[in-house]
Amino acid sequence: MSTRRSVLAVTGLSVVFAAVHRLMRPGVSSYPQSRRSPNRPGMGQSLTTRALPLIRPPGAVEEKAFLAGCIRCNRCQDACDVGAIALFPQQDGPLAHTPHIQPEVKGCTLCLKCTHVCPTGVLQPLKEKDKLHVKMADLSFHKDLCLSFKAKRIRDEQALLMESGREATEADAPYERRGPCGECYMFCPLRNNAVNLEPGYFLAPKFDETQCAGCGMCEEICQVVTQGRPAIRLLSRRNQS
Ligand code: SF4
Ligand code: SF4
Ligand code: SF4
Repeated sequence: MSTRRSVLAVTGLSVVFAAVHRLMRPGVSSYPQSRRSPNRPGMGQSLTTRALPLIRPPGAVEEKAFLAGCIRCNRCQDACDVGAIALFPQQDGPLAHTPHIQPEVKGCTLCLKCTHVCPTGVLQPLKEKDKLHVKMADLSFHKDLCLSFKAKRIRDEQALLMESGREATEADAPYERRGPCGECYMFCPLRNNAVNLEPGYFLAPKFDETQCAGCGMCEEICQVVTQGRPAIRLLSRRNQS
């Protein structure tokens, strides 16, 4: 089999395994979906009091020009079918009523619709080919919290215990039962560019920060599967001074 065909076969198998795994894993029943409810976590809270990263929709110009040019018309939010765009509340002063993304609540799917409705150009219109150049935020990955890396570590430790004739421990049993994950890989709109699978592991992510758009889809799903202790965090890359 050619190298290219081998890679496709491995990737295809991983996708099938991940789909089956997702159906079978207990405790993971909710997946990213539209959560445009005004009561969703984080909505209506002040950025300054929440100390969350400032992340703008794709195509946003630099922060000073954005704040000066955005006329707070809400058209980008209306265009966002998945409900990824939130608006800052009144108490956020100069930020009030401007759009932002909260990956821990809802990631951006990079559909780019919002970039085509902005009447002022502070969200610049983007085409499909521009996706690989979008930089909304920086990605920070904490391997120790990732279920796939944990599952491998636990399996290796248990194998060592068994080899030495001792009983397997129950210490990490909940993680062992949940097994490897791979959801960030499945949900990334730039799969196989911004994130690949780590060789030698099963469904463990290998991120490429240089190609990552900072859309936050991976943080959103990681929040769900890790039950609030995500291995992925998106950080602001905007200069607010
Ligand atoms: S690109 Fe699409 S999903 Fe992302 S914020 Fe804009 S409209 Fe919403
Ligand atoms: S979604 Fe989170 S826990 Fe799952 S593989 Fe990705 S980083 Fe690891
Ligand atoms: S790695 Fe995460 S933040 Fe980066 S493009 Fe993929 S889903 Fe978006």
